[in-house]
Amino acid sequence: MSKPVDIQYYKLKSRLNGELLTDDLSKKLYATDASVYRILPVAVALPKDKADIKALIQFANENNTSLIPRAAGTSLAGQVVGNGIVVDVSKYFTRILNVNKSTKTVTVQPGVVRDELNNYLKPFGLFFGPNTSTSNRCMMGGMVGNNSSGTTSIQYGVTRDKVVSLKTLLSDGSEVEFKEISKEAFFNKTKLQTLEGDIYRTIYEQLKSSKVQQYIRDNFPKKEIHRRNTGYAIDELINSNNFSESDTKFNMCKLLTGSEGTLAFTTEITLQLDDLPPKENAMVALHFDSISKCMKSVKTLMKHNLHTCEMMDDTILNLTKHNKQQQQNRSFILGEPKAILMCELKAESKDDLDIAVHGFIATTEKLGLSYTAPVLVGREIDKALELRKAGLGLLGNMIGDKKAVACIEDTAVALHDLEDYIAEFSSLMTSYDQNPVYYAHA
Ligand SMILES: Cc1cc2nc3c(=O)[nH]c(=O)nc-3n(C[C@H](O)[C@H](O)[C@H](O)COP(=O)(O)OP(=O)(O)OC[C@H]3O[C@@H](n4cnc5c(N)ncnc54)[C@H](O)[C@@H]3O)c2cc1C
Repeated sequence: MSKPVDIQYYKLKSRLNGELLTDDLSKKLYATDASVYRILPVAVALPKDKADIKALIQFANENNTSLIPRAAGTSLAGQVVGNGIVVDVSKYFTRILNVNKSTKTVTVQPGVVRDELNNYLKPFGLFFGPNTSTSNRCMMGGMVGNNSSGTTSIQYGVTRDKVVSLKTLLSDGSEVEFKEISKEAFFNKTKLQTLEGDIYRTIYEQLKSSKVQQYIRDNFPKKEIHRRNTGYAIDELINSNNFSESDTKFNMCKLLTGSEGTLAFTTEITLQLDDLPPKENAMVALHFDSISKCMKSVKTLMKHNLHTCEMMDDTILNLTKHNKQQQQNRSFILGEPKAILMCELKAESKDDLDIAVHGFIATTEKLGLSYTAPVLVGREIDKALELRKAGLGLLGNMIGDKKAVACIEDTAVALHDLEDYIAEFSSLMTSYDQNPVYYAHA
């Protein structure tokens, strides 16, 4: 029997223009994301407008509960799991608000789906670069929350590189826009007698000491680890001209991006776009008879201005054999590789592409680590990328009692550490009698 719902929630429901779900089924549906974690939320809200989110913030403050912003819920580490109120923006916050062709920016609500945004932007000759495997369903609020990256981030960067400004609601319900600001504007903000002022003051007080800055520099991951998401990105803030000699202006969005919905509720996102990628492309699918040979080749191959460099191991490749849809996408696989590396090259003309592909093949031959390297074109490339995108999902549907557990996900290391890292990680797993599965934006 379901528990009676607290009278407070009935009152809250009547205040909202959107919906508040407190039934058991809804709570169970929202108890998880794509991770192994499960916690029943106290309620699920589908806010219709900003006033609804403000009402939810006020309610959370008065009733000592928390809000868990949620977009598509495809997070892999429990980011949208919690015992507070899950606030789902996927139903009503779905508008693309403005495209500015001259600044190549777009402003969206957090519930806009990444691929739908790019379909919309195509006629403008623009697109949003970061491309997760979940791009057909994940939403911009979630991409900002997770600082999402993906297959193309070696060319186009991660979401943090693209966030120009964020309109947010803070924990007291105040509306604040965060964007790049001058030194003078920063110090003016520190004088505000508001929560926004407190935030700027605290940031300044905490980060102004050169000793603290050095400590951060010494202890944060290496700078070249671009796809990192290691707690709050305060190292990004100290790189601004308030705290260093750099020309970079301070932008709180660097910190908000990747903060997993813990600092503010985002209602509008303005993103920097890129021109559509060069139209000619080819993919070289290198086949290896060992993981270590695959890893060994990555650093050299990456010198070729690749657009994607995606890796899959034999565990995932074998799972695609038993999936009807993926059987059609795996026709380029020759023999029984232990790993494949799918390397995509792009150019504006066919001639330039030929030159790029020949140069790339020459490098692979010189390396001598792969046993074959078919070149894919046209629809074959889409099929290969679909195979890669399906990989993780297939792992979740492993047939039999043995299931893959996603417990060490999305680790990121510097390129020159990759080979040693995987070798050490494999031996650690072996020592626990575990079989690691590798798929990576190599
Ligand atoms: C099969 C699979 C493959 C994946 N591949 C990749 C990949 O290649 N690269 C990658 O980076 N990730 C990947 N992911 C993880 C995930 O899909 C992405 O990070 C995705 O961008 C998250 O978007 P979402 O809409 O699902 O966000 P959600 O999971 O709903 O939310 C993500 C975070 O954003 C916060 N958030 C959402 N909306 C708001 C808001 N309005 N205000 C404040 N905070 C908010 C949430 O609280 C949460 O912390 C993968 C996941 C799966 C299941």
